[in-house]
Amino acid sequence: MGRAIPGMIYSTMAAALQRANAELQNLALHDSLTKLPNRTLLEDRIEQAIASCKRAGSGCAVLCADLGRFKTVNDSLGRPAGDALLRTAAERLRAMVRLGDTVSRVGSDEFAILLRNIGKTEDALALARKVIDELSAPVRVHAHELRVAPSVGVSIYPLHGDSAEALIANADAAMYHVKISGRNAARLFAPEMSNCFPERLALENDLREAVGRKELELHYQPKVDVRSGKTTGMEALARWRHPRKGLLLPAEFIPLAEETGLIISLGDWVLREACRQNRAWQNDGLAPLRVAVNISASQLQQRDLVERIAAVLQDSGLEPQWLELEITESVVMQNPTEAIDVLGRLKRMGLQISIDDFGTGYSSLSYLRRFPLNTLKIDASFIQDISGDNNDATIVQAIVSLAHSLKLQVVAEGVENEAQLRFVQATGSDQYQGYLRSEPLPALEFGRLLMLAA
Ligand code: C2E
Ligand code: MG
Ligand code: MG
Repeated sequence: MGRAIPGMIYSTMAAALQRANAELQNLALHDSLTKLPNRTLLEDRIEQAIASCKRAGSGCAVLCADLGRFKTVNDSLGRPAGDALLRTAAERLRAMVRLGDTVSRVGSDEFAILLRNIGKTEDALALARKVIDELSAPVRVHAHELRVAPSVGVSIYPLHGDSAEALIANADAAMYHVKISGRNAARLFAPEMSNCFPERLALENDLREAVGRKELELHYQPKVDVRSGKTTGMEALARWRHPRKGLLLPAEFIPLAEETGLIISLGDWVLREACRQNRAWQNDGLAPLRVAVNISASQLQQRDLVERIAAVLQDSGLEPQWLELEITESVVMQNPTEAIDVLGRLKRMGLQISIDDFGTGYSSLSYLRRFPLNTLKIDASFIQDISGDNNDATIVQAIVSLAHSLKLQVVAEGVENEAQLRFVQATGSDQYQGYLRSEPLPALEFGRLLMLAA
């Protein structure tokens, strides 16, 4: 068929068809009154956010907001006034969130917000309180000054569920609790609101014992030089060999460790073990490589972090140049002044500092320029989305050029296949990590891999 139509007309038709399709899709996924995404689109975005949080070991949040007294407005002043009120509420909410977050209308006077990347629970609650402030500010409609009494409920991935359905249901349950206890407030979901989360408590108790019972282990993933293909270092990634649940990934326990403060002892153990193991490999005569350890928000806030790390290096006998710390963008941005100071001291000690998951948070290279850094790790989502005609390729190219102009090394995360490696090569990235070379491996296997390469 296609061959019978002259090329140009064919491509015009194809373009028109594509536009029509896009328009239809847009209608099906948005609320016509506020133009906000509807529940279907929201659920899809939440599932995407969960998937990317799983990869990054990070969290996201769902907020459900109910306007309250909306029915009174509608009934007494008429539908147009109600509609105007809803549009204003929608605008205020949209203006509050960051690019990449989703504000959606899910019921007559109910909105839901997805916060894609939150450092800690408190961040989501702070925004929830702002939502209350914004929504309860008066709205002028047809010479009337209207006030609503909003209620907001919050649920967090992974603490309160690992599906869009569960997160929305739990944020909704929390919102309902606010509603029946006086409105104008925001609350975090709690198990007693639905009575179906005894599991979290059990896991928390298990985690308390995990270090002592030697259930934690580190797996190592090589970092590879893009040009030579040689292994240039490795990242230590925590795993929990749970007695009943089997091998757990960080996404399943790091956020819980953060919430409960257990991350401090867990993080200490990770640092010690990574340095001990790296020193042991060097003692075995393997060519020295740098080991990278992930540092969480609470660890960076520890007053004595620098001293602790110095002690760990001392005890293990590892020289500082063989230790690298990976910290995500959102974590350093939480408290930039302090982060600049602490990272500066660590760098002067001889450690290397990397920004992890770059591109998922603030993504401000000009701001990051002020931080004492060595390396920028581009988040896997950019590398994995290169197929298709989106802008990611251009963005990655720009990040690499900027990073190089700031004298930073660039590591591409999540390289799974040859096409992605070719892309990474073309962008001028220095190193990559990904399943293409190797999954994270237990120390014994990783050691063997190094031995073979030597
Ligand atoms: P990260 O630091 O960005 O680590 C990279 C993650 O990407 C790892 O997931 C790794 O297994 C995964 N990965 C590597 N190559 C590929 C690939 O080709 N494709 C895909 N799809 N994924 C790949 P993992 O081990 O589940 O860790 C997730 C996150 O948990 C880490 O993200 C890090 O932020 C956090 N994490 C891991 N270990 C620790 C730790 O000891 N302490 C702290 N605070 N966080 C940790
Ligand atoms: Mg990392
Ligand atoms: Mg990363």
